[in-house]
Amino acid sequence: MIRLARITLREIRLPLREPFETSAGVVEQRRILLLQLADTDGSETWSECVAEALPTYSPDTVETCWLALSRWIVPLLIGRSMSAPRDAHAILEAHVRGHRMARAAVEMGVWALAATKSGLSLASLLAVESETASASGAEPRAFVETGIALGMQPDPDTLAERSLAARAEGYRRIKMKIAPGKDVQYVRAARKAVGKGFTLTVDANGSYSLDDRKHIKALEAMDTLGLAMIEQPLAHDDLVHHAELQRLLSTPICLDESISGDASTEEMLALGSARIVNLKPGRVGGFQQALAIHDRCAGAGVPVWCGGMLESGIGRAYNVALASLPNFTEPGDLSPGSRYWQRDIVVQPWTMDAQGRVKVPLDRNGIGVDVDTALVGELTVRSATFRA
Ligand code: MG
Repeated sequence: MIRLARITLREIRLPLREPFETSAGVVEQRRILLLQLADTDGSETWSECVAEALPTYSPDTVETCWLALSRWIVPLLIGRSMSAPRDAHAILEAHVRGHRMARAAVEMGVWALAATKSGLSLASLLAVESETASASGAEPRAFVETGIALGMQPDPDTLAERSLAARAEGYRRIKMKIAPGKDVQYVRAARKAVGKGFTLTVDANGSYSLDDRKHIKALEAMDTLGLAMIEQPLAHDDLVHHAELQRLLSTPICLDESISGDASTEEMLALGSARIVNLKPGRVGGFQQALAIHDRCAGAGVPVWCGGMLESGIGRAYNVALASLPNFTEPGDLSPGSRYWQRDIVVQPWTMDAQGRVKVPLDRNGIGVDVDTALVGELTVRSATFRA
């Protein structure tokens, strides 16, 4: 039984080590919403809302999530008895449409709380609750391979240099952000630098269109460069044209923004829109949906991998737990915290070994990280506490 006695919502501003550029713009300081959840039995955990400041990746933002959490989501769940963590999704689904990142922040916290209360690591609880993992008796992975996501670079040579450095650090896969006009030459330079056998992927964040001949030509040129996947080339809400494009390309398309839940995953599979899914639990409303997508894709022979949303070490703990499931067969965007943050808010920052692997904290209950509460206090710009 889970019963939330208290939820504290806070916003922190976490300074980045270097600006991160995507086709949508530059981020220098990450605004992050954190939640602290307490059960009536005294168990506590932290969770993170992955929404960004601007509605460029998702319609959810820090502001809309603050509103949705305070007004609708927290009041629905607080003080309510839930027999299992799946109940949180069912309650939210019945009363709140959209606001998936806000819902996920609490829903995933409920899963972590359930793991803590049962004396299980979050990864172990997810493995028990995943049909694919439980049917095959698969234990969660002890290590998850990690890739790196490189923001858009000023020129192809810089991208080549940074790709070489990433390979030397041990990363198992390099993903490059691309946009029309900053694509084919960049990918060629990176491919030349790291060699034929190394896993390279690109992410367009929806910036290409089949209405533009130049875009199609660029996509066809990249199709010959040995990429492991082309992520979200077309619009965020478009499955039909992705299916058309997938028929043109031999490189697998991977969908990120277009997959908002299990229903769109089913549509993607029916249409043949992609052959790989970037599964971010915050984007799909939390772990109940993430598990459903993981299991559906496993059944269809479609691999998934865990993308990043510039999470702090708290959000990273949730991603690492999810990525330990059996159908996460591609490296995740799970770079060490020191790559992003001047100082992370967890006591033992996430690290990567020389083989490019992150250790899953299977020996610890719940999320498996301790939060630097003093630092969180210093970084907090606003907070609100809700009680049952
Ligand atoms: Mg992406």
